[in-house]
Amino acid sequence: MNKPLITLAVASALLSSPFSTVADTLIHAGKVFTGTSKNLQENVTIVVEDNKIKAVKKGFAEAQEGDTVIDLRSSTVMPGLMDMHVHLSSQHGGPQTYLERFSLNEADYALRAANYAKITLNSGFTTVRNLGDGYNETVALRNAISKGYATGPRIYTVAKSIATTGGHADPSNGLSHLLRPDVGPKQGVVNGEAEAREAVRTRYQDGADLIKITATGGVLSVAKSGQNPQFMTDELEAIVETAKDYGMTVAVHAHGKEGMKRAIEAGVDSIEHGTYMDDEIRTLMKKHGTYYVPTILAGKFVADKAKIDGFFPELVRPKAAAIGPLIQNTFEQAHKAGVKIAFGTDSGVSAHGDNAQEFSLMVEAGMKPADALLSATVNSASLLGISDILGTLEEGKLADIVAVKGNPLDDISLMESVSFVMKDGVVYKQ
Ligand SMILES: [Zn+2]
Repeated sequence: MNKPLITLAVASALLSSPFSTVADTLIHAGKVFTGTSKNLQENVTIVVEDNKIKAVKKGFAEAQEGDTVIDLRSSTVMPGLMDMHVHLSSQHGGPQTYLERFSLNEADYALRAANYAKITLNSGFTTVRNLGDGYNETVALRNAISKGYATGPRIYTVAKSIATTGGHADPSNGLSHLLRPDVGPKQGVVNGEAEAREAVRTRYQDGADLIKITATGGVLSVAKSGQNPQFMTDELEAIVETAKDYGMTVAVHAHGKEGMKRAIEAGVDSIEHGTYMDDEIRTLMKKHGTYYVPTILAGKFVADKAKIDGFFPELVRPKAAAIGPLIQNTFEQAHKAGVKIAFGTDSGVSAHGDNAQEFSLMVEAGMKPADALLSATVNSASLLGISDILGTLEEGKLADIVAVKGNPLDDISLMESVSFVMKDGVVYKQ
């Protein structure tokens, strides 16, 4: 659904980049993780023509006249990384974060998102799913990046998340009656099937790529429960059914079991966080092919910050302390059980640019480094439905290519120091 945008992005990026050439670019890679196997290949040339991978060849091919050679012989080269859960418009900075909604306007969020998008790309993430903004600013940012007006990853955005009244992501939570805005399907607050359908259709109209709902309570919202179910089955079914009509997938924020169960049975595509999933939920996810997007990094962040007096409002602090520390174990159990896992961090809770810290947390919890890399490439592309154009380094795919010095299969923390970034055939970091 985003193909025309990508083509536009390529054309404008090539015109605007100081690094672009009309001839081929030859990347001499000491080691390559192509994503087509779990092993590294040594001494490989990746030939890039315009925005696409033209060939992946054994040995270091010689340059023809006009070609550019990029020397990555001491690096491991891999597909551009993908983070399936970010919030580019914000970054948690403690108590003052809760006051921003009284002082910031749409343009403030948009410009801030542009800054965080650049930081995200620079850290090796060439594609992200933005799972919730305030004013559709990430729709505008996605378009601006595609046109070359801004620098950042390829964005797939839900625009504003959909919640129920008082639920996680209801923008009127925590305000006095005097200040509480009137919110409905347009602002992502629904009650009943008809409003659920209207909210999905409004997002389609607003230019969203997919849908995000908050099926249970959440940690950071100013509300009591972090895990109660917040959508009824008829509302969930209406959302999934309507989203399908518009070619959109549904991502689901969920901590508690009952909300997860209802959502998975309604046919959603991914469960985010998934804190209290148990055997029954894991079995259900495998049966339905539902992806799990862990966000261990966000769990660690809120657990740490809950120890600081005054960092969170009093309603939030106990939720952060209870839920945060559990997610790494949830991930470990899900991985062991064979649930499909796509990489996601909830960056915006933790700092943008720290996304790759999630890799170490995954490996610490028992995942092999190669599988962690696959979660952020092949699996994420599959969740986005873009496996035909991205996710591996293969002939014909878009040239989203990153590299780290050394071998990340020996030391996964190297992923936190990406030294080379190419997106759509354009070099952004070298
Ligand atoms: Zn989130």
